[in-house]
Amino acid sequence: IDQQREYVLRSVEERGVRLIRLWFTDVLGNLKSLAISPAELDNALSDGMTFDGSSIDGFSRVQEADVLAIPDPDTFELLPWGDPQAPEARVFCNIHNLDGTPFQGDPRQVLRRHVKAAHDAGLTFYVAPDVEFFYFEKLEPGKPPVPIDDGGFFDLSTSAVTSELRKRTIRTLEALGIPVEYSFHEDAPGQQEIDLRHTDALTMADSVMTFRLAVREIAARNGVHATFMPKPLEGLQGSGMHLHMSLFRGDDNAFYSESDDYDLSDTAKSFMAGLLRHAGEITAVTNQTVNSYKRLVPNFEAPVHVSWARNNRSGLIRVPITKNSNPNATRIEYRSPDPACNPYLAFSLLLAAGMKGVEEGYELPDEADANLFEADDAVLDELGITQLPQSLNDALVVMEKSELVREALGEHIFEWFVRNKRSEWRAYKTQVTAFETDRYLKAL
Ligand code: GLU
Ligand code: MG
Repeated sequence: IDQQREYVLRSVEERGVRLIRLWFTDVLGNLKSLAISPAELDNALSDGMTFDGSSIDGFSRVQEADVLAIPDPDTFELLPWGDPQAPEARVFCNIHNLDGTPFQGDPRQVLRRHVKAAHDAGLTFYVAPDVEFFYFEKLEPGKPPVPIDDGGFFDLSTSAVTSELRKRTIRTLEALGIPVEYSFHEDAPGQQEIDLRHTDALTMADSVMTFRLAVREIAARNGVHATFMPKPLEGLQGSGMHLHMSLFRGDDNAFYSESDDYDLSDTAKSFMAGLLRHAGEITAVTNQTVNSYKRLVPNFEAPVHVSWARNNRSGLIRVPITKNSNPNATRIEYRSPDPACNPYLAFSLLLAAGMKGVEEGYELPDEADANLFEADDAVLDELGITQLPQSLNDALVVMEKSELVREALGEHIFEWFVRNKRSEWRAYKTQVTAFETDRYLKAL
């Protein structure tokens, strides 16, 4: 820590950094920032910066308004955009109460707690997200969004602007220390995918926050609007954030077994069973908007059913086939999350649900490799395959009863989240939509 601290202070001086942005994340996954001058950095690194937590959604109640942002020097990076004459840097913070205890309203602290519990059991949780998003022309108020290209899956021809944007974004991400594994044009017009190379979950949650800002920032600088809205266009694919996950014990992949047909260890299987059993309970967090549930419908490669298979995009968990059964690459892919979620909370709940399965030795149900979108309800019933919650409201009803989620998020965030999302649902429920006026106004 001290060495890292020295490195930060030295970089700020050598690179002539003018402003340091202290970053943290609110309960809904919005990035927040406090800017300090280099003169204050030394002090901030040792004592933290006090700020009024009640000014931020989800942080702090009135009677305990002040909290402390303590920078994590491991996350120091120069920001690759902005004025090169006045460079800026960022560092993620952990939020503490004034007595030094972790602040219960800080999502990063929640994930740290889970990562530490896994670590105490000798395990490291690795995550690699496939992030999908759309590029639209500059938005015009009151007009439907216009995709910047009409390209499709892996399309090369129609999208010179798009591939230039993607290239600049990837360069920016790499400058921020976020390695990209693949990037390509996704299925829908204007839709892109960027897949990040796996890291430990805490680093990855920070990276997802940085990623969303970088994508928007680079797009905006080129007159384009990038969005992580889960289903921006009716009748076309939505944007998911599939999460590839594995657990390592030291250098060994705890999900790998040589003797299994699918290369999966018992740990992997009971982890998957945990995810499947608790999937409904964690969906309000992995899919936190009203709009999220318009993506989770049949026939758009997004999951609807709580099932797993080796290679079936209609299921919730996919077990990707790895080249030459590479032990380190053996992993599972959880497909319901969307890129509008709070990555700290989503990763926390996935780890908690999976570990519950491991600790209790849950049994993995049979693989469901048929196209479930075509199966009828009676067949699904017989197989014991349930569906994911179909609306934010359904998801909240299940979440509210979940001891696992309450415990994993902590009382403070749990209560705040449910209250906030209930009010979002109430606001949505009173809307009279175009669907209704088109369908009923004349006919009834
Ligand atoms: N866009 C799809 C989704 O909503 C996923 C497409 C894919 O399999 O990459 O999750
Ligand atoms: Mg994709």
